[in-house]
Amino acid sequence: MTTIASTLHAVNKRIATAAKNAGRQPEEIKLLAASKTNPAEQVKKAWQAGQTIFGENYLQEALEKILVLSDLSIEWHFIGPIQSNKTKRITANFAWVHSVDRKKIADRLSRDRPEMLPPLQICLQVNVSGESTKSGVSPKLVADLASHVASLPRLKLRGLMAVPELTTATALQRSQFHMLRDTYDQLRQDGFDLDTLSMGMSEDMDIAIAEGATIVRVGTAIFGPRRYPYT
Ligand SMILES: *Cc1c(COP(=O)(O)O)cnc(C)c1O
Repeated sequence: MTTIASTLHAVNKRIATAAKNAGRQPEEIKLLAASKTNPAEQVKKAWQAGQTIFGENYLQEALEKILVLSDLSIEWHFIGPIQSNKTKRITANFAWVHSVDRKKIADRLSRDRPEMLPPLQICLQVNVSGESTKSGVSPKLVADLASHVASLPRLKLRGLMAVPELTTATALQRSQFHMLRDTYDQLRQDGFDLDTLSMGMSEDMDIAIAEGATIVRVGTAIFGPRRYPYT
């Protein structure tokens, strides 16, 4: 029988192997369990098996789980599209947001972050595939957005995130991760104090780690197929 403990163990091994193959330390890479569509009891099983960082895409679904699991020490990351009327509840319930792609949302997150909580940890989502339907700031505009976010008092800019175009072509996949890495290196050269590259999912975490990922966001490889359709 496959259990969450065993799939989680396998994913952690995959991360360690990919790190080693890339000449990196496994500890440089954090695993975020992307738990969308999976009920609180599945999240709890993963937590009992040692997983502490979870990512959610839909606010309403996330809030239900966060409430049910509030006695567990979980670090919640918001990784989905952000509507401006949701920023209050996002800032009250999450430690990190990976999907900031415009100034207006950043302004609202900073404004709404409760005083008694530490600054909200932020990654800027970059559109590395050039698809017009994809969310994310274009690589050309990311420096401007980074300057803006870095100036906001209740946000802490940590790095960049991308969801590359799904492709079976390894070379194309790699080039998109590479573009994010280049953008990240450029920002660091420009003086931004960044330490996070959030990239890589179930299918492609190995390539992402070879290209420098420091957080991989993994769903199906841990929880199995999603419980309902997600687009
Ligand atoms: C669902 C999701 C993931 C995880 O995808 P899997 O292919 O299930 O590993 C990672 N990042 C984001 C933004 C997601 O929405």
